[in-house]
Amino acid sequence: MSPQAAVAAGCSLSSGFNVSRVRGDFPALDQLVHGRPLVYLDNAATTQKPRVVLDALFNFYTRDCANVHRGVHELSRRATEAYEGARRTVARFLNAAPHEIVFTRGATEAINLAAQAFARSILREGDEILLTELEHHSNIVPWQLLAEQTGARLVVAPINDRGELLMEELERRLSPRTRLIAVAHVSNALGTINPVAEICRMARARGIRVLVDGAQAAPHVRIDVRALDCDFYAFSGHKLYGPTGIGVLYGKAELLERMPPYQGGGDMIRSVSFEKTLFNDPPYRFEAGTPHIAGAIGLAAAIEYLTGLGLDEIARHEYELLSAATRALSEIPGVRLVGTASHKAAVLSFVLDGIHPHDVATVLDHEGVAVRAGHHCAQPLMERLGLPATTRASFALYNTLEEVEVLARAVRRARELFG
Ligand code: PMP
Repeated sequence: MSPQAAVAAGCSLSSGFNVSRVRGDFPALDQLVHGRPLVYLDNAATTQKPRVVLDALFNFYTRDCANVHRGVHELSRRATEAYEGARRTVARFLNAAPHEIVFTRGATEAINLAAQAFARSILREGDEILLTELEHHSNIVPWQLLAEQTGARLVVAPINDRGELLMEELERRLSPRTRLIAVAHVSNALGTINPVAEICRMARARGIRVLVDGAQAAPHVRIDVRALDCDFYAFSGHKLYGPTGIGVLYGKAELLERMPPYQGGGDMIRSVSFEKTLFNDPPYRFEAGTPHIAGAIGLAAAIEYLTGLGLDEIARHEYELLSAATRALSEIPGVRLVGTASHKAAVLSFVLDGIHPHDVATVLDHEGVAVRAGHHCAQPLMERLGLPATTRASFALYNTLEEVEVLARAVRRARELFG
């Protein structure tokens, strides 16, 4: 296909990825905002949902709606099969075993679960938890709470001005008291892809456990928890084209087996008497109460959709978007890109000289362009960078090169209005 024909057919030039066809799968993209076609670039906050996910939710609630693991009737059997099928889909996606997959409300709950049910039991006063300067609050505050409960200490590994982890500094901060490293796979504010495999190797050599916060990685990066050899991996369904309110904690089977429950209730028990309760096996031990059945089914539909499109094709397309957006914004006088790591996912933070990021985002909104402005739940990172906030455009598989141009035009407009 000639380049012109490829563009006409909606294909991205280098990958052959048919973005026009893909966009047709996402009903929410087809709307006007303030009279302009919606350009949705707030994907790091949450993604739009393809019709297959909406259909999976609709079909569950209209045909198979019943509680899981309990009923002997047909609908309960179907609901249980779909819910456990979703667990198998997630396990394949991460290269894990189904009993290593715990469904949670999201990455936040997954991290809190690992902190309270795992790390709490291994930490003693004076022990250390290593974090990095670019963590999301969800991967800081649970460890801070835990440090207060146990007398452990947080140690923070620094980044350079490009937003890359300084690996030698990280290694230097590993001490005989380090028990756990909690690190983002991909930074939500900067897009940096961290060398988590190398971090896991360093940790393994010293008997340190690793939790990887994969909330921003799952939509962009192929994940293999066996190859990484991490102990825990957390992510959210809603950033991966799935429903809100569902997420995943992967934990190594041998660790989950040793962990006490996180919450008490139905489904997490084997037997209950007033004298003693025997707990269920993992992963059920960590899923007290009725789970988000529809959410898990919707998440599985999203994963099947993604893998059907091809994770490598998606990555290539997003790389093209990121490169084009980086070029386009760099050419605008007064724009400074924030986060220029050599290894990045499709997140572009920037500031415009003399214009508050919220004002930039407001002008962009009037042009139909949805971006985020603020500290991105990463206040320590903003402090490190000496910025109160940035404007962040984050891309997804359904974004186009034309949308990158609309973004650049809208940023120029903000500059004209405020400059
Ligand atoms: N970690 C990172 C890196 C994130 O970007 C987010 C969401 N912004 C979270 C954790 C928390 O995810 P959730 O709010 O879906 O639990």
